[in-house]
Amino acid sequence: MTAAPSPPCGQFDALLEALRQTVGATAVRIPTPEDPLDAHQVDWRKRYCGQALAIVCPANTQEVAEVVRLCGRHRVSIVPQGGNTSLVGGSVPDDSGQQIVLNLQRLNRVLDVDAANLSMTVQAGCLLADVQGAADAAGLLFPLSLASEGSCTIGGNLATNAGGTQVLRYGTARELCLGLEAVTAQGEIWDGLKSLRKDNTGYDLRDLLIGSEGTLAIITAATLRLYPRPTRHQAALVGCDSLAQCVSLLQHTRTRLDARLTGFEVMHQATLALALRHLPEQAQAARALLTPADSELPTWTVLLDTCDTGPSSTLTQDLEALLDDAHQQGLLSRAVLSHTDGQYRAMWTLRESIPMAEKMEGHMVKHDIAVLTSRVPTFVAQAEAALQQAVPGCRIVCFGHLGDGNLHYNVQAPADMATETFLAQHESRIHALVYDLALSLGGTMSAEHGIGQLKRTELGQRQSATRTAWMRAIKQALDPENRLNPGRMVP
Ligand SMILES: Cc1cc2nc3c(=O)[nH]c(=O)nc-3n(C[C@H](O)[C@H](O)[C@H](O)COP(=O)(O)OP(=O)(O)OC[C@H]3O[C@@H](n4cnc5c(N)ncnc54)[C@H](O)[C@@H]3O)c2cc1C
Repeated sequence: MTAAPSPPCGQFDALLEALRQTVGATAVRIPTPEDPLDAHQVDWRKRYCGQALAIVCPANTQEVAEVVRLCGRHRVSIVPQGGNTSLVGGSVPDDSGQQIVLNLQRLNRVLDVDAANLSMTVQAGCLLADVQGAADAAGLLFPLSLASEGSCTIGGNLATNAGGTQVLRYGTARELCLGLEAVTAQGEIWDGLKSLRKDNTGYDLRDLLIGSEGTLAIITAATLRLYPRPTRHQAALVGCDSLAQCVSLLQHTRTRLDARLTGFEVMHQATLALALRHLPEQAQAARALLTPADSELPTWTVLLDTCDTGPSSTLTQDLEALLDDAHQQGLLSRAVLSHTDGQYRAMWTLRESIPMAEKMEGHMVKHDIAVLTSRVPTFVAQAEAALQQAVPGCRIVCFGHLGDGNLHYNVQAPADMATETFLAQHESRIHALVYDLALSLGGTMSAEHGIGQLKRTELGQRQSATRTAWMRAIKQALDPENRLNPGRMVP
């Protein structure tokens, strides 16, 4: 598919003036050398730096629809943007200076919370943390939880089908969405804001838009699934000698706790050491719980999260008993339970500080793969062997959501090699090696971050011709002029 044809220069002024008339002059921002608006033009990892014609911030669905119609009339393409926390370069403009970034963050109202139906309706630009807060204020739980929740929006979460730390119990963003409102590429408004649990009336347009990364329509509002709010949370940090031990511990814990197990995260020793090096204050408190500061970290550390509802809870006793049994069965080397809110938060801070520590460390070759949980140890062993053969001395930063088989498997330059040299000489080979291995084990090359710009070519090279043809046909049907996020996701 080719990019939308660019308009002659003179037409920009007319478009910009029409946009100002629609959304207000202050809601159309033009990047300049003095004020490059990096928050909208540079991605979170600072890998992609675009140049937009303007950043446009409509205040409601009607304004979004009018902006899309105006851009269509002027043949200008649109990059929908929420919090710009995409890790695959999906939410920043290209460098043509001819795309509009349509930022949704002014659509930030919680429209309704329906406790009896366990649902809520929110506008797409609401921050995820605010959605969680509104549910909490109503005594309920919206369980989507990511380290970026203070910056990302619910529209972006749905556009990327975000995962996070509680997928094991509650599912991805897709499973948490009951209905959508969206603006089509032609600027029409589709009202699919239903709160029904059952609705078998033809093709599921909601599920088609979820995970479409802004390439098919612009999500303007969503109806979300809520849960009873747990009355109790308790976490444990557990040391294991091998990944196979972690997988057995997961099985053991699931059998014993069932739905009370909400998260099962793993962190490799070297990954924890990285977090401790860059963010010692936050992370050190939790480390001290697991081991004295001067002793070795376990080869693998599991963060096991649990919750319970109801007035009387046996969670602590059940957790203690299952960890004791696991110890006796040789499934762990040591374990510590959180007994206060402070300890519980410190354990999560340790886990959630890893992406920031990685960012502070510098560029790595990053992957977000998933395989069947039972195959994770095989993946890690085979990937390590192949990588050490390809780039001797490369350093692996591995952590993730073992409960979902999803690993963030990142590769850093050998200590004696400059990062730029490493990336230039080895990046594409490392990607190929890691993706091909994950796929050969029946897995995926993108578990939760999506495709964006970063993985579009690789997706096209690895998925079947049939799947690529279907993706292109759907794009062509809904956005025939390729106005919405061109050059992203669709191979
Ligand atoms: C520290 C950190 C931790 C993270 N942890 C996780 C994690 O655990 N799990 C996970 O899944 N992701 C994670 N992410 C990635 C990121 O936060 C998610 O992809 C998030 O869902 C993106 O939301 P956003 O509002 O920032 O969207 P953006 O980054 O602005 O956009 C993402 C994509 O969605 C499109 N889009 C945005 N809003 C809309 C809309 N309203 N309608 C249509 N398309 C839209 C954009 O065009 C783009 O393609 C993490 C990121 C960071 C920085």
